[in-house]
Amino acid sequence: MGSEYTLEKKKIGKLTVNVGGMFSGKSSELLRQERRYTLANKVVFSVKPKIDDRYSKQGIVTHDMNVLTSEVVRSSEELRKQFYMQNPRPDVVLIDEIQFFDKGIIGVIEQFIADGIDVVAAGLDMDRFGKPFGVTPHLMAIADHVQKLHAVCADCGEDAWISYGMFVADEEIVIGEREKYLPLCRACFMERTADHRIPSSSQ
Ligand SMILES: [Zn+2]
Repeated sequence: MGSEYTLEKKKIGKLTVNVGGMFSGKSSELLRQERRYTLANKVVFSVKPKIDDRYSKQGIVTHDMNVLTSEVVRSSEELRKQFYMQNPRPDVVLIDEIQFFDKGIIGVIEQFIADGIDVVAAGLDMDRFGKPFGVTPHLMAIADHVQKLHAVCADCGEDAWISYGMFVADEEIVIGEREKYLPLCRACFMERTADHRIPSSSQ
């Protein structure tokens, strides 16, 4: 008021992170958020990393087979380049399977936010041993909103805490489906671990 300049506050984006184990509804939640942005006439750019080949090469596919059409990229740098090539420029970036991205994704997301673009990222918060997974914990820390989703424990029906890997393998990344992972609450996970029915990462 009284100033000859109209100072408009620069629009800054927001970061929302949906995390949880497998079957906790992360991708369905991403789809729901996509619908809401679309209803608000926002241009949405959906993307996921190349590593996930299940069901479809182009869609973010939820376990109940709903499809969110998305770009597949091999790195955070490719994501950045693809985004800035879009015309019209998207208002929102939705990223699925965020845990599989390289560390560069953090800087790319920060750049989007500074440019006024909302980012919604979904992914696993922990690996099958209960250890924080990739870039997810960092993004949870810097997010505006974090939503932690839960599957149902297959042993007791409580909120699941982890995706229990029903296989013996050294690698942290095993792209698997229902027959390979079981959602378990912390108590049931500890019980199974104590029974040595799962290989532990910490010994
Ligand atoms: Zn349980």
